[in-house]
Amino acid sequence: MSAQPDREAAEGCRTCEQFDLEEAVARAEGDGSRETDCRVLRRRHLAADHDDGA
Ligand SMILES: [Zn+2]
Repeated sequence: MSAQPDREAAEGCRTCEQFDLEEAVARAEGDGSRETDCRVLRRRHLAADHDDGA
């Protein structure tokens, strides 16, 4: 499998896409703390709603 782990979970999930987008925007704006925030929230969402890595 050559799928990028960071993108894989976002397939078809709007919440993941939104976190991805917000993180990208925060990064583009140089807002490091918001970028980290998005990553943490996204990971929490992944654990809660995708049941990943269980
Ligand atoms: Zn998701």
